[in-house]
Formats: sequence, C-alpha cells, structure tokens
Amino acid sequence: MLNKTRLLTPGPTPLPERVRLALAKDMIHHRKGEFHKIMNHTQEQLKLLFGTTQPVLTLSCSGSGSMTATVYSLFNPGDTVIVVNAGKFGERWGEIAKMRGLKVAEIKKEWGTAVSAEEVAHAIQENKDAKAVLVQMSETSTGVLHPIEAIAAVTRATDTLLVVDGISGVGISPCPMDKWGVDCLLTGSQKGLMLPPGLALLALSERAWKICENVKPGCFYFDLPAERKKILGKSETHFTTPVNLIVGLEESLGMLLESGLETVYRKQWALTQFCRRCADAMGLKLLAPDNYTWGITSILLPEGVDGVQVVKDCAEQYGIYLAGGQDQLKGRIVRVGHMGWVDWGDVATAMYALNQCVIARGGFSGCHDFLEQGLATYRKALQGKPGEPVDEVHD
Ligand SMILES: *Cc1c(COP(=O)(O)O)cnc(C)c1O
Repeated sequence: MLNKTRLLTPGPTPLPERVRLALAKDMIHHRKGEFHKIMNHTQEQLKLLFGTTQPVLTLSCSGSGSMTATVYSLFNPGDTVIVVNAGKFGERWGEIAKMRGLKVAEIKKEWGTAVSAEEVAHAIQENKDAKAVLVQMSETSTGVLHPIEAIAAVTRATDTLLVVDGISGVGISPCPMDKWGVDCLLTGSQKGLMLPPGLALLALSERAWKICENVKPGCFYFDLPAERKKILGKSETHFTTPVNLIVGLEESLGMLLESGLETVYRKQWALTQFCRRCADAMGLKLLAPDNYTWGITSILLPEGVDGVQVVKDCAEQYGIYLAGGQDQLKGRIVRVGHMGWVDWGDVATAMYALNQCVIARGGFSGCHDFLEQGLATYRKALQGKPGEPVDEVHD
C-alpha cells in the first residue's frame, strides 16, 4: 500500500515541514506592525534571491498573472515586442502580448532547442522599434534553458528591454538581475520556492521602472507603480495580500538563504545530472541535449510507448506524479520535475518507477544499474561548481 504521493511535477512542488508549519500560523493583519516586519524581511531576502537592489513586488496571482501584469504595465497598445517562442510558455507571452494589442515579432524555435543571443541580436536589428524581448529563463514545456546572461549582454547595450519569465528558473539556477542586466524578472511561488501556488514575485530594473511610469496601466488590479509606492512607503501591498503565503515565503527564503544559494543551485544541477544519467543508462533519449534547465528533465519515450499511460501508471502504481508532454509532445515525453523540496531519494524512486512503467508498456531496459550510475554522477556533480560538466570535476 502506498501512503505517500511524491510530486515530481514542474509545480506545484512538495512543501518542507518548516514551511507548512509557518503556513499554519494564526492570521495576522496585512496593514499592521507585525506584518510590516515580515514584509521588510522578505524584501531583503527577495533582493538576494533576485540579485537586485530594486524592490521585488509580491502579487496575489499565479505566475501567469505576473506575466500579464508585466505586459499590461510596460507596453502601450501598438508597441512592438520580440517574443521567443520555443514552447508552450513562449507561446503564452505572444498570447498575452496580442491581447494587450501589441505587435509581436516572433522568434520561433523548434521544441527542445534554445534561442541564441545572436538570433536575439538579429531580431532587434530587424525590429528597431521593438520595446522589449520577452523570453523564458527555463521553458518548462520542453526543459530548455535559454542563455539569459548572453541575451542580456545584447539587450543591455540597446534600448530594448529584456523581460524574463523565470517561473521555473528562479531559485533553481542563477539569474542575478542587476549583474546580468535583466530588466524584468518574475516568478511564481509553487516551483523553486517550495510554497503553495498563489503568489507571484516580480522585479523591474531602473530603466524598466522609468518606462513603466509613463505607461497608463492596462488594468485596475495590476498597477505596478502603485504597488511599488506601497511597498517602499508602507511595506504593504496595494490590495489584501495572501498573508499566510508571505509568512511561508519568509520561511522558505530563510531556508534557501541559510543553506546558501550556491548550495541550492549545486543541488539542482546535481539532481539534473542524476536524472539525465539515469535516463541515458535506461536507454532513453533526452529532448534537450544541451541547454537544459536545472529543475526539470524531459525524457523521450521509445517508439510505440504511450507517454500518457506511463505517466498514469507511475501515479497509480508508484505514487510518483510526473508530467507528460504538451501539444505536439503529448504522449511522446515524460517530464520529471526535480525542483524545490525534492532530493535524490525522490528522484531515485521516480526513475525506478519510470523504468518499470516504460518496460511494462513495451519499452526496453538498458543497464540494470542505472540508479547506481545516476547516483555516482550525482555525487560527483556535488563536488563541482553549479553548472560544471561532471567529467570536468576533479575528485
Ligand atoms: C508554470 C509556468 C508558468 C505558468 O505559471 P502559473 O503559475 O501556472 O500561472 C509560466 N511560465 C513558466 C516558464 C512556467 O514554468
């Protein structure tokens, strides 16, 4: 009998006990002293996480709400933006932009591949009036990591802003906003940050704030300059905030910062190496051979094996919740989420279950010792720097 479900999905992710206990605390008022203290503390923590000196706004909505808030606050109808569409979430940038009445110049990439800084530079050349480039840090539908640092090196030398959806990236791999020159970075609570869904976090650069202040907000609820005024002036949000999520945020960021961001990123990198090595030893191919994200691994299934069934079997028989493919990848891939409060024990169980279910559905079995191989790789990756290729790590 199973008495546990293991969430290895790209959000929501499991909650640490410390966070759950913080969430269970008595309600406090969102405009009184005790709350102001918590808010001030979370601001300091968030600035470290985002790598910025700017305020980090807390919005009560899911991640897509903060994407909407960004598009409706930074641009006027008729403006042109460049959208990197390399999957489901890149597509979403385009949809939100079109709803706001923007002209969208799209860089379309095959699913499983990343955009290059050169392609972005070329698109800016071709669209001199473009106000911004909208991109994902990590494209969750494919497991691709876009090269944000290199793209920012291009955009920061121009008047084009760089807007980054970091929903499955922040707290998982580095994206220091100020250092790299990112103009907008946003995320949601339910992925790398070990919190329930419902809270979004968003920061703008100095130059993005200047633009924001000259755009009439497109909707009443998301008025970013008003939010900024409130947080700087009173340590409050414009509307009633999900108080318990903020209390939980203080705890979860406390945990991340106590262990140190470098340690968090190293763990994420090592889990990714673990997962990829297992898949390889199992005889399975990876969707994103290079430029892969550190919080999710997309694994291609052998011809004839139905991914929808495999995902279902893993949940029903092993209590392992994985994600399948979306749209054109439906049934063809399995996505193993390993972000947030997930450790090697979870990943090992998931890879074991996946192997069993793939075989049961007519797939093949590679090496029997795929878990040992994966674990050896994981341990080696922990000896190196976050992002350092395992074969370059010295013993
Ligand atoms: C999960 C995700 C979203 C959507 O977030 P919601 O919280 O479901 O609105 C958007 N972009 C990326 C990259 C994501 O991973």
